[in-house]
Amino acid sequence: MNDHPVVRPAGVRALVTSLRIPEPFALPAFVSEVGDLIGRPIKTRPYPRRLVEAFRRNGEPLPYGLMLDTEKGVVIFYRADTGPAHRQHVVLHELGHALCRHVTDPIDDQDVDDPEVLGAALRRSRYDNKQERAAELVAYLVQQRVGPLKMPSSGPARRENDAAARFGSLLEG
Ligand SMILES: [Zn+2]
Repeated sequence: MNDHPVVRPAGVRALVTSLRIPEPFALPAFVSEVGDLIGRPIKTRPYPRRLVEAFRRNGEPLPYGLMLDTEKGVVIFYRADTGPAHRQHVVLHELGHALCRHVTDPIDDQDVDDPEVLGAALRRSRYDNKQERAAELVAYLVQQRVGPLKMPSSGPARRENDAAARFGSLLEG
């Protein structure tokens, strides 16, 4: 996996075009597709409750998503306090980091539930603007290929949610 070249924004469009996207779209299937592609299993899960509580207690903003390399694969954390469209966007953004090989310092698999280890990883996970734009472009282009997420209630609320997702993950992911 480490011989994957780092993908620059110019290469992102070609990369997304080459992706196999499940039809009808299902995020879990797409996550495992990306895992196959990068040669590492990818798991998605909400942040552990104790981590969320620790950040809230400290008044620290909790990023919408986090991609972490572990010894065995990649774990993508997301905040549980968002709607399905926003969450999907956040996961796609983090998959963008994985696809672009924005590698993080790996943590031990047994530590993925440890709020202190995760908190430290969160505080040091700072991508540069180019990396953030590349990840965001992946999310945007995949979303464009997939179309809007079908939700029970559509309309203005959904558009607002999507806009918030783009804005939020650009700033905080
Ligand atoms: Zn990001």
